[in-house]
Amino acid sequence: MNIKILAKKSLVALTESRILDKFFAASRNRHVPIFMLHRFDDAGREVQGHSIDFLRNALTWIQENNYNVISLDHLIDALDGVAELPERAVVFTVDDGFIEQVDLAAKVFEEFGFPVSIFLISDFSSEKSWPWDYQVEYILNRTLHEKIVFNVGEETITIALTTHDNSRQESITAVQDLLKGLTTDQAIEYAKNLAHLAEVKVEESIPASYFPVTWAKARASESDNVRFGPHSTQHAILKRQSNEISLQEIADSKAAVEKELTLPLNIFCYPTGRKNIDFGQREMDTVKALGMRAGLSVTPGYVDIHKHGSDEDRYCLPRFGFPSDMNDFIQLCSWVELFKEKLRGNL
Ligand SMILES: [Zn+2]
Repeated sequence: MNIKILAKKSLVALTESRILDKFFAASRNRHVPIFMLHRFDDAGREVQGHSIDFLRNALTWIQENNYNVISLDHLIDALDGVAELPERAVVFTVDDGFIEQVDLAAKVFEEFGFPVSIFLISDFSSEKSWPWDYQVEYILNRTLHEKIVFNVGEETITIALTTHDNSRQESITAVQDLLKGLTTDQAIEYAKNLAHLAEVKVEESIPASYFPVTWAKARASESDNVRFGPHSTQHAILKRQSNEISLQEIADSKAAVEKELTLPLNIFCYPTGRKNIDFGQREMDTVKALGMRAGLSVTPGYVDIHKHGSDEDRYCLPRFGFPSDMNDFIQLCSWVELFKEKLRGNL
């Protein structure tokens, strides 16, 4: 066992100390982690992501250690001062609206009686189109080429695809990041060029491994625990779009969840969510002007119930990526990560 794992294990062991838990309780109770999840393992459809067994283990840990999963609306109510937070509150969100998120993951949340918020891309749920960034992933995972030289505007990127491991994933992310600098129309056009270079046919119909939560599916699945909210119409990188398109992406997806669902969430989740890169002040102002309660970013951090109620903060709430390691998960849920943040001077 290396030193790092050992250190993590001993830190996590400290969470079992009643004295320390008591000492840090006030700080922990005002800081709430929102976890962000994406895809889940679904072998039958060749989908890789979070393990459902790990999700179940994480929720079991929560249940056995007196943590409380609350809904996103409950958290915003607490920010508004109209609801009490339970001790050790934790929130779960799932982005993009792939079918296994409902068929596999939401079922697990329902089993535990825990709330979860799932954010849908409205044109995807309408089966009109599937997101360009996932098309890039599809193309680069299926190509038989080991190297593709790809020109995007002035930039040339050599995409290395020799192995099916992390380095391939890094290549995919590099191409996605490059196209995130463009308008959606341009990104879709470049994704088409890439498919041509990669000699991968992208069908009009959405492939099984990328099948969405359709509106009918969302309607059949929504409940007090499972709620759906807007995540743009086409997964556009909002900051790169014109004023008109940026507004449309937010307003139309909000209107779509309201039209299609009985219990829509009035909270926006920014596509790919990096503040000042993927969305900015303009989008935060739009979300507020449309009367939405809050906006979700991908900036790691806790929601500080005493601080994040302001307009400046509630329209870019932080979230933690859901870890794949139980010690990391326990650290983020408990006071341990908070304490580390404090030591780093981030709080
Ligand atoms: Zn997304």
